[in-house]
Amino acid sequence: MTKAQTFAVTENVWCVRRASYLTCSYIVTTPRGTVLIDAGMDSSGRDILDGLMAINREPSTIQSIMLTHWHNDHTAGSRAIQELTETSVHCHAKERPQLMRLAAHRGLRGQVSDLIPEWGLLVLFKGLLGAATPRAVENPVSVESGDVLEEFFEVIETPGHTPGHLSYYYRPEKVLFAGDALAVVNDRIRFMARPVTPDLDRARASMKKCLSFDVNVLCPGHRVPLVKEVPRRCDEMLDYLDSAGRWPLLG
Ligand SMILES: [Zn+2]
Ligand SMILES: [Zn+2]
Repeated sequence: MTKAQTFAVTENVWCVRRASYLTCSYIVTTPRGTVLIDAGMDSSGRDILDGLMAINREPSTIQSIMLTHWHNDHTAGSRAIQELTETSVHCHAKERPQLMRLAAHRGLRGQVSDLIPEWGLLVLFKGLLGAATPRAVENPVSVESGDVLEEFFEVIETPGHTPGHLSYYYRPEKVLFAGDALAVVNDRIRFMARPVTPDLDRARASMKKCLSFDVNVLCPGHRVPLVKEVPRRCDEMLDYLDSAGRWPLLG
């Protein structure tokens, strides 16, 4: 299995990413402790633990896990980190059934998904077939728009990719953790692909909502964070959304 890479985004934000699928989870070091935005692709928690080791932080410093949505490539490590640190996990109420695996074993797809190992690109198929994160999160805390977590993280409801998708805005550094509400490709803000966006209208409204924040650094759920000319890129995308610009098939 390939190892996750960890790289600095800002002074206090690190991206943990596996080369095989480019899903980004983030480690944020705050005055109140370490915060995770999503929890890595590995259900042993190894992606996050490797990331913490790379930046010399102990797992015991983790204060909170804030999940953007239930998809396995963003949440797989949640339970392992919870067991290690007893940290609380936050999500929107609508993602709770999948995060708690309440209906995970129903149907052939779910059963096949459970059998697929977490190796390389297989993680992608595991996620596409499954209807739950691989290990049930214990008592996730429901949060909604307007809530502020760990003093500095504003919760933004951004449904569309999933019904309870959340983004988080880290006020001190004006960092937007957008999850899969949008994509960043070649230093431009783009849509996610249509086939992974079940509700295009709500997803459009969600993009407008989160891009309207005063953003200096944009951390998406895949590929690479946007750190250059971010206010300008946000304005360009907002203009495009306001002009009812079309949503390309592949985003
Ligand atoms: Zn997703
Ligand atoms: Zn994703």
